[in-house]
Amino acid sequence: LVLPGHSTRRIVVALYNYNAREETDVSFVKGDRMEVLDDTESDWWRVVHLKTRQEGLIPWNFVAEDRSVNSEEYVPYICWFFENVSRKEADKLLLANENPRGTFLVRPSEHNPNGFSLSVKDWEESRGYHVKHYKIKPLDNGGYYIATNQTFPSLPALVMAYSKNALGLCHVLSSPCPKPQPQVWDLGPELRDKWEINRNEIQLLRKLGHGNFGEVYYGKWRNNIEVAVKTLREGTMSTQAFLQEAAIMKKFRHSRLVALYAVCSKEEPIYIVQEYMSKGSLLDFLRTGDGQFLQFEDLIYIAAQVASGMEYLELKQLIHRDLAARNVLIGENNVAKICDFGLARVIADDEYCPKQGSRFPVKWTAPEAIVYGKFSIKSDVWSYGILLMELFTYGQVPYPGMHSREVIEQIERGYRMPKPTAHHLPDDIYSLMLKCWDAIPDKRPTFEFLNHYFQNFTITSEVPYREVQD
Ligand code: ADP
Ligand code: MG
Repeated sequence: LVLPGHSTRRIVVALYNYNAREETDVSFVKGDRMEVLDDTESDWWRVVHLKTRQEGLIPWNFVAEDRSVNSEEYVPYICWFFENVSRKEADKLLLANENPRGTFLVRPSEHNPNGFSLSVKDWEESRGYHVKHYKIKPLDNGGYYIATNQTFPSLPALVMAYSKNALGLCHVLSSPCPKPQPQVWDLGPELRDKWEINRNEIQLLRKLGHGNFGEVYYGKWRNNIEVAVKTLREGTMSTQAFLQEAAIMKKFRHSRLVALYAVCSKEEPIYIVQEYMSKGSLLDFLRTGDGQFLQFEDLIYIAAQVASGMEYLELKQLIHRDLAARNVLIGENNVAKICDFGLARVIADDEYCPKQGSRFPVKWTAPEAIVYGKFSIKSDVWSYGILLMELFTYGQVPYPGMHSREVIEQIERGYRMPKPTAHHLPDDIYSLMLKCWDAIPDKRPTFEFLNHYFQNFTITSEVPYREVQD
């Protein structure tokens, strides 16, 4: 028998600290508990804070369900559960230096819709630090197991047991993997659909770079939130067209696309306020930044992230048109995100017209797009192939020594960039590039394929006892 009113109470626990940005939202610190009053809005939930009794809005992805309310055993909050993490990302998170052996996380299985995977950081004399992944299989009548002789009624029970005793795992589970700060998609609850903001609230602090359409600055919003501000030189594009495009961009959300926070379009120059990416463009990162020291597997990780963002655009049927290392941004821990997407197609036509002006990125553009203006997701795949070459040569200019006109002519005759001699590039990846540069667009791979290819690239052939590929 459940008491009316009580059964529907939903308590959440804060996973991170959050400082209120507006009157309407509620501050909290990690571990605080709140009751959810309304979760119908996708990003901002109305809650009442159980300690301060303050009522207001909170970003939903800063909290997790408090299982102590409705589960047999006490689990304050499921800090070890990573809902949207792939095998490769799990490797990346767990291998961070500060994590000791036995650091772990649980994630949904990429292959079994009802199963999960347990990823554990381990160490061996021969391999050094590495991550092992175990399949967690569901039982027909509820519950889970890794080994058939050890079954558990729930995931928390399983984790609890393997935290006390390795029971055949590589190592006892020591501590949950620290979670990265969740993505914030807008500046505050009042701004969720109103992305026009007051430009007085933006402070431009430092020039980051020079774009085709204006300067880019590092800045802060309300002296608090770090942002990147792209300014658009007057007359580069129609405000109307730009705002239309910004509205679309705001709707596309993916962890591998730079988030558009807001715009200031009431006066010139127009500001585009974006998520700040601390390491700048992939191109500069590879040529002169920390990217010069990346290992081969880090390059694979970046290739996978870009493919993942592009897979999302492919699914949403959005064409990027200007995919290149200069339009990928790098943040902490080699996180890569695609930027400038969708902008190319609203630029006043004569400014970005094929064949005219040196600005047209000939070396990145598929021949059918150069010659007939036929841009498609398949012309983006071509550009992705060029980006891969930039990546594996640490930012070399494509077709070194060749002029744009020469490139167009040679490509039409079947010429393709040769395999670099000065950098390590496995034959398999080079032949994948050649597939991206197939003269027939439909024969080029999909981004879904490319993402899968790079996500699984480094899986070793050697699979230790009970470790499974998942
Ligand atoms: P354009 O629209 O002309 O291509 P970009 O977006 O490439 O302009 O910006 C120019 C430069 O500004 C980039 O190479 C990068 O160094 C910097 N930049 C742009 N956006 C950001 C951002 N969100 N975070 C950090 N740096 C950025
Ligand atoms: Mg750019």
